Amino acid sequence: MQLDRFPRTPLACLPTPLEPADRLADQLGGPRLWIKRDDQTGLGLGGNKVRKLEFLLADALARRADTVVTTGGLQSNHARQTAAAAARLGLDCKLLLPRAVPIATPQYEQSGNVLLDRLFGAEVVPLAADEFSDALVDNCLGRLRSQGRSPYFIPTGGSTPLGALGYVAAALELVRQLEERSLAIDAIVVPTGSAGTHAGILAGLALAGLEIPVFGIAVSATSREKSALVGQLLAETLRLLGGPTSDPPQVNVDGRQVGPGYGLPTAAVLEAVRLTARLQGLLLDPVYTGKAMAGLIEGIRAGRFGRGSNVLFWHTGGIPALFAYQDVLENTGSLS
Ligand SMILES: *Cc1c(COP(=O)(O)O)cnc(C)c1O
Repeated sequence: MQLDRFPRTPLACLPTPLEPADRLADQLGGPRLWIKRDDQTGLGLGGNKVRKLEFLLADALARRADTVVTTGGLQSNHARQTAAAAARLGLDCKLLLPRAVPIATPQYEQSGNVLLDRLFGAEVVPLAADEFSDALVDNCLGRLRSQGRSPYFIPTGGSTPLGALGYVAAALELVRQLEERSLAIDAIVVPTGSAGTHAGILAGLALAGLEIPVFGIAVSATSREKSALVGQLLAETLRLLGGPTSDPPQVNVDGRQVGPGYGLPTAAVLEAVRLTARLQGLLLDPVYTGKAMAGLIEGIRAGRFGRGSNVLFWHTGGIPALFAYQDVLENTGSLS
């Protein structure tokens, strides 16, 4: 299995820091906690999609694309990082953004990631929740081609096997950091959305021959649906790498933090965001990393992560969404 043969456009500040979170760990009274800071990948306020875009946009450039088209919810971090990367590379960017979350405050509609998408010069196309479809994408790409453009489409979250290579590389980066510090990690906790991050980490650890259990915390849907999504993308990513697919690593997804649905933070999520901010000066987001931290906190309180063990929380970014959720964060209430 080889990663070097895939073209990669440098976009991220790497390696991202690996830091202890001692005050949070002390408060929770369980394992030693470590944070992999992929909120610090640099480009356009950072996040996990920058790593995927290094491989996806290298492919777009190789195909001589001049316009990047992608999709995600209205407050998509993936859309914002794609807009920033397109600006950096001199590509046009068009964002098809369905209103997937039933929040319609002015902040949600206009601030956070949406504000940044527009600053990066992307064309933002808000859609009704049920308006997005494969046919709509085909129409959009067809229209661009008829205008003489050369579009490149990136599916939701950049979670294709090629995009997942960003997290294969990230897992190898982590393995090097652990070796440098002689640190052994007993478990990794990561949010699971469109699955490229989770699947890529599993493929990368398999590539390195390291068996660290990875616990995905679902941010939407059920644990079953997310496990299937991760499993399929993992198999496809291993195949792309030309590696063995017969004995793939185990997929664990915890569906208990989803609450009322995607983009809707529960009381446990708001507690996780506040606790981490106050004890570490570290920002989480209400959609992804807040749910993942709520899952980690619940797991520690339930005794699933042993005292004295080392648990790594993979911070995937999402900070700009905090500004879109101003109402939810300032009122003590939650949406559940
Ligand atoms: C997209 C995203 C995720 C989920 O990553 P996937 O690869 O889609 O599973 C997690 N956290 C943040 C902040 C994201 O923007």
